[in-house]
Amino acid sequence: MSEVSKEYDFNCIEEKWVQSWDACIYHFDWQSKKPQYIIDTPPPYPTGNFHIGNALNWCYIDYVARYKRMRGYNVMFPQGWDCHGLPTEVKVEEINHITKNQVPREEFRRLCEKLTEEAIERFHKSMGRLGLSIDWSNEYVTMKPEYYVKTQTSFVRMHQNGQIYREDHPVNWCPRCGTAIAFAEVEYDSRTTTLNYMRFVSAEGEMQIATSRPELLPACVAVAVNPHDGRYQKFIGKTVRVPIFDYEVPVLADPVVDTAFGTGIVMICTFGDKQDVRWWMEHHLPLRQVIDREGRLTAVAGPYAGCSVSQAKDRIIQDMQKEDIIFKQEPLEQNVGLCWRCKTPIEILSERQWFVRINAEEIKKTAEEIDWVPPHMQVRLKNWADSVEWDWCISRQRIFATPMAAP
Ligand SMILES: [Zn+2]
Repeated sequence: MSEVSKEYDFNCIEEKWVQSWDACIYHFDWQSKKPQYIIDTPPPYPTGNFHIGNALNWCYIDYVARYKRMRGYNVMFPQGWDCHGLPTEVKVEEINHITKNQVPREEFRRLCEKLTEEAIERFHKSMGRLGLSIDWSNEYVTMKPEYYVKTQTSFVRMHQNGQIYREDHPVNWCPRCGTAIAFAEVEYDSRTTTLNYMRFVSAEGEMQIATSRPELLPACVAVAVNPHDGRYQKFIGKTVRVPIFDYEVPVLADPVVDTAFGTGIVMICTFGDKQDVRWWMEHHLPLRQVIDREGRLTAVAGPYAGCSVSQAKDRIIQDMQKEDIIFKQEPLEQNVGLCWRCKTPIEILSERQWFVRINAEEIKKTAEEIDWVPPHMQVRLKNWADSVEWDWCISRQRIFATPMAAP
């Protein structure tokens, strides 16, 4: 009989068992006749370390996998790595003190791959040491060609089925990262800005308009009033001149205009916010794009072309004050949309991008056909489907990403 040590030496005992666990006992059996239980594990971003939050989540998955094996199921517990995109690129820029455009694309991609490989190696060690019953024969790495060919295949298939299209459409744009981002990637933070009251001139008299973004004046394509606002009836259907830039825009009536905000008259610009996009589409207004992909003003802004957004804001305010166009300013608390990775305020630009059609009715119908545990998650999905206003922008202007046809 062998001696059992009085002290439990976890370092030596665990090390021994981790070796045995590596020996394929958790592999999914493709030949087995047992009922299958497939776990769709979320692939983490391998940028930092496997942290305590990851450990908690993977324990939940592991409990279920082990329980189902004991109940006689053939369990698949795969492990993937979501390698691409902004988090890795931003990390590489931070570590190497560069921006992605300062080194050749190939070199930048190599730095991203190296960072990812090292992180995966660290994650492997932590997950193995935790004794998670992962099936390492079903591991996938999204930056490998054998994986991204699957992404490209489903892209082509969805395009053939008419579920994907390419179009000029307003998108959320981060001028620092130089890419389109999805709605889910926009964070909001409240900031104090200035509300500027300006005079617009029309044949029917002066219209006073308040805006927090005077730099978008050259992007103004219409002004709108509430049809029930008695003060402004005479302007509806007429035109008004945009100061400084000196061109005519129509005066529209729209019930969404808040009569209590500012003067009750809004300028519709392409694009200050999501509401501008709604109005632009509903009223079939023209496009005046004054901000470019780097966050600078375009030729549409005339003498302000080439200025950054904040420079243009200061200069346009000064010029309007000189001409007595701005007659009042007051502080305004405002919710500003920021890029989730770098916290730069986003702009809404019209860009040629790829979109996935979102069919809310079909999503809700399919949700009904699924057994949900817990049941309230079905409600959450349905609420989300109802809240989606735009189709999903899936193209990104990245270097470290799955290649697809240029948007
Ligand atoms: Zn950004």
